[in-house]
Amino acid sequence: MKILVINCGSSSLKFQLIDSDSEAVICKGLCERIGIDGSQISYTPEGKDKITNVTPMPDHNRAIELVIEALTNKENGVVELSEIGAVGHRIVHGGEKFTKSVVINEEVIKAIEEVSDLAPLHNPANLIGIRACQKVMPGVPMVAVFDTAFHQTMPQNAYLYGLPYSYYEKYGIRRYGFHGTSHSYVSKRAVEILGKDAKDLNLIVCHLGNGASISAVKGGQCVDTSMGLTPLEGLIMGTRTGDIDPSVVEFVMKKENSTVADVTNFLNKKSGVFGLSDELSSDFRDLEDGYNNGHAGAIRAVDAFVYRVVKYIGAYTAAMGSVDAICFTAGVGENSGFVRKLICDKLSFIGAVLDNDANKVRGEEKFISTPESKVKLLVVPTNEELAIARDTFELCK
Ligand code: ADP
Repeated sequence: MKILVINCGSSSLKFQLIDSDSEAVICKGLCERIGIDGSQISYTPEGKDKITNVTPMPDHNRAIELVIEALTNKENGVVELSEIGAVGHRIVHGGEKFTKSVVINEEVIKAIEEVSDLAPLHNPANLIGIRACQKVMPGVPMVAVFDTAFHQTMPQNAYLYGLPYSYYEKYGIRRYGFHGTSHSYVSKRAVEILGKDAKDLNLIVCHLGNGASISAVKGGQCVDTSMGLTPLEGLIMGTRTGDIDPSVVEFVMKKENSTVADVTNFLNKKSGVFGLSDELSSDFRDLEDGYNNGHAGAIRAVDAFVYRVVKYIGAYTAAMGSVDAICFTAGVGENSGFVRKLICDKLSFIGAVLDNDANKVRGEEKFISTPESKVKLLVVPTNEELAIARDTFELCK
């Protein structure tokens, strides 16, 4: 079956067409600047060069029409419309309602709407993507795959904040966690690579990208993760703060005479390694260059980032009682031997020893620990689109 995977943001839409038999990516692409001047669609059919078409996209309906046009046109198309057997949608927040992927119907749409106040920037955009696909592909089954679902196995002591319990009951304020599709995919793949039974393994997955999160996976189930009610909590990220004292918000508001919205924007977009490096960059390639050239901001930012990751690894080792393997994934985790080395060299307290040669790897599955290392260290490239396609196929076959 050919599965269309849609990741719909407020002004962008990423898509992949995946063959569920071979798991090959038949075409992938991106619509940018939806609803804004200068919108364009770019896509790469398997084995061909990237094609870019600058064209007006006043809304997501038009974007989806253009995606279908790109996939089916005579010259560069890769399928007939009737061959698309199902659509898998990435949905950011499933609240407590969704513990796994589900076939989309009106009831599911309503439930996603109901938890939209937990992800006001993302869920409405995801829903627009669903509606647009329903319009252009009526009758084609669709599946919702939630970023939060994998983390729903966390025990109460890990997901509750130290707030009045009534806030959890009334408003659902708790840790939900994100990047769940990635943490699930990588932890399952690690179990296969390690060749053991999932129930015998305690794993830590470090998803280090522009957004970064870490999870503790015991016996195949998530028992803790660093992101919280929103993706702002936890590790220091590209531009997000990660953990801070909530009093910072009021303090900065008073000092800068700003609003909650201003400060929230600042915490999400101007902080993290970007803010710490005196705005040198949020990209670890630039930070690595800066670090090696003695840029004080880059050194400060990278050291703080690494320290936070190591601190979480220590905490999650304690939470699980022990750790068998630590997996690195996403843009930084898969590609930056520099960052992995800084982290792994601080893990002697759990007997982890990095193999410096193996650590040169980029974007490939590989053990990067020495044979003597008590804890296995692994690079496992994530593949959220494939995970979405697999779930979609399972529910629609
Ligand atoms: P997201 O999905 O959160 O946008 P990604 O997982 O795609 O993030 O990661 C993007 C980040 O990966 C970039 O900001 C950059 O810091 C980092 N990155 C990508 N390639 C490399 C590399 N070769 N070396 C170091 N960092 C890299």
